[in-house]
Amino acid sequence: MLPIAADPMGAAIYDFHKTGNADTLIVRSSMFEDDEIPVEDLFRSFEGMPSLEQYALELAEGRILDVGAGSGCHSLALQKMGKTAFAIDISPLSVMVMKERGVDARQVNLYDPAFTDKFDTVLMLMNGTGIMGNLDNVKAFFKALKRLLNPGGKVYIDSSDLRYLYEEEDGSLMIDLAGDYYGQLDYQMQYKDVEGEPFDWLYLDFNTLAYYAEENGFKAEVLFEGEHYDYLAGLTLA
Ligand code: SAH
Repeated sequence: MLPIAADPMGAAIYDFHKTGNADTLIVRSSMFEDDEIPVEDLFRSFEGMPSLEQYALELAEGRILDVGAGSGCHSLALQKMGKTAFAIDISPLSVMVMKERGVDARQVNLYDPAFTDKFDTVLMLMNGTGIMGNLDNVKAFFKALKRLLNPGGKVYIDSSDLRYLYEEEDGSLMIDLAGDYYGQLDYQMQYKDVEGEPFDWLYLDFNTLAYYAEENGFKAEVLFEGEHYDYLAGLTLA
């Protein structure tokens, strides 16, 4: 679990929840220049969500688990649709905010084997594959999903194919085939004086996701394609 002193995203979410405003939430990676996450985007309503996310919420049914729920935006939208959502996040401040916003939330790590509740739908949105971290963790990821799914349950997860970051003007790709998978990024966040630990954050192209899904007893299908190499996938136990 994240200690409050090392929870920059949670601190930003907490500030925005309390005051309606937040400072800059900075994302650093060796792959690109410092970037920002607009904190108000983490509080998006159904209408403010990309179609891919709206579609995932429409598909969700039964008892729904919102994994890495952040401010709880998806859980709240599901509640408004009359659906039953439970939210988990490792960020203590995010969980505090979600509870204050009326979300049924708990501070839980997806990989904690002691979390044995069962769900009909597992939602992982805003690059849901990120929580896998890196390819060494793929097996543990699918194991966690198996633990959480009711028979016939479904996972809705989104990601992007980052190959466009490596595309030359002539369409050829500059990818080091001997290096790590090109969607594997190192991230580090900062909010005000709260600096988080560096962590791995994985973007997976659909074919790679489908390959690992099959290796781990799941079937993957593309349900929606976004405008920028992003997609929504459905995962079911094979
Ligand atoms: N789904 C939200 C937030 C996405 S950011 C949205 O779309 O707005 C990713 C979130 O996942 C962060 O809040 C982070 O704290 C949480 N997270 C990261 N690793 C996790 C893990 N292992 N288990 C549960 N939550 C995790």
